[in-house]
Amino acid sequence: MTTAVREVSVFGDGIAYFNEAADLLQLDAGMRQILTHPSRQIIFSIPFQRDTGEFEVFTGYRVQYNFARGPAKGGIRYHPGVTLDEVTALAFWMTWKCAVVDLPFGGGKGGVTCDPSTLSNNELERITRRYAAELVEVVGPDKDVPAPDVNTTPQVMAWFMDTYSMHTRQNCPGVVTGKPLEIGGSRGRVEATGRGVTICALDEMAQMGIAPESASVVIQGFGNVGMYAAKLFAERGCTVRGISDVTGAYYNKDGINIVEAMEHVGKHHNLAGFQGGDKISNAELLVSECDVLVPAALEKVLTAENASKVKAKLIVEGANGPTTPEAAKTFSDRGIVVIPDIMANAGGVTVSYFEWVQDRMGYFWKEAEVNERLEDVLLTNIHEVRRIKVQYNTTLRTAAYMLAIDRVVKALTLRGIYA
Ligand code: NAD
Repeated sequence: MTTAVREVSVFGDGIAYFNEAADLLQLDAGMRQILTHPSRQIIFSIPFQRDTGEFEVFTGYRVQYNFARGPAKGGIRYHPGVTLDEVTALAFWMTWKCAVVDLPFGGGKGGVTCDPSTLSNNELERITRRYAAELVEVVGPDKDVPAPDVNTTPQVMAWFMDTYSMHTRQNCPGVVTGKPLEIGGSRGRVEATGRGVTICALDEMAQMGIAPESASVVIQGFGNVGMYAAKLFAERGCTVRGISDVTGAYYNKDGINIVEAMEHVGKHHNLAGFQGGDKISNAELLVSECDVLVPAALEKVLTAENASKVKAKLIVEGANGPTTPEAAKTFSDRGIVVIPDIMANAGGVTVSYFEWVQDRMGYFWKEAEVNERLEDVLLTNIHEVRRIKVQYNTTLRTAAYMLAIDRVVKALTLRGIYA
């Protein structure tokens, strides 16, 4: 039995979704081969010194999946479960995500296999600087532009940007996005992914005849994506019945006070001890009573085992890859609508794109302008996805992949294959 990667590859899930769309697009075999291979995978060691003086070595990754539409773009994840397979899958998804919302970027992703909950701030800084230093030659505003992902924050982006700037002897804010405002971040970036989740969800709810004031929402994961999605759903009048994080899930039929939950996390760093709902397990949360379910933690949480028990009418994938292809088939058979990750969580990379543009201009926009542009980008493209869904009588996921693959293929074809 292999222990190097999870039993079923995450990248394998991505390829399964890709193939469904490629079949409908009648993509030729050569183009399929090109698009199912990453352009570049980089693996390196990160030796670092603990505060105690001892040395340890972690493994770092950066995968630059595709450059056809522009520089690679995608977050950096710090998590004990990070593998080359996972980073490749996430870089693959970034390629389609950037294309589905029509951004001039390719796809990339990075990660370090580590447990940040055991690291001090100084240790985190040393790891980040070494990670950035290893990548100096291959990242940059016109090459590859990282951003935050699970367990990486605006502060981590600030260290990355500073290390890159020191090595290249220039101030270079455009090398990463998701930075603090003071050093070239964009207004609205912190909330952008959660905001995008709610924009997509509310648009689909209107199609389905679900009024926000009568809708109940359950959200798995209360980090950057889940927390702001919860806040914005509540602001729009929805009842957020369930939230969760790595410490467990909290359910309140009458609605959780999201501002209190956010204050709790602000004070205690997680939801442990939160009194605003009954404590249940994360497994129970996913199959609890609700209209809208938002998985916003990690991949492969909606599977063949629990898909038949999910009660939601609409699933909005805040996380990347939360639904296995088997579960997706069950949802489609049961008439449960799924807004796929590459569309539902594209709000983050869209405002990252705005940040990159603002850094290059040296001119920064008001938050209202950022939010208005974000809504325009997401709605324009989700409407196009829905048009393709109807035309081909398929799912939103396959339609989103079709739109994205078609855009990448057009760019590749125009540029030509340098063979
Ligand atoms: P984060 O680190 O800010 O938050 C992750 C949350 O998930 C935390 O609350 C954590 O406790 C929780 N969690 C972890 N394991 C869990 C488990 N087993 N059960 C329940 N909760 C668990 O990360 P994030 O940036 O919010 O990212 C969440 C997901 O959204 C990831 O799949 C990420 O790739 C995706 N995403 C993030 C962004 C972004 O801009 N941050 C953009 C697009 C997609």
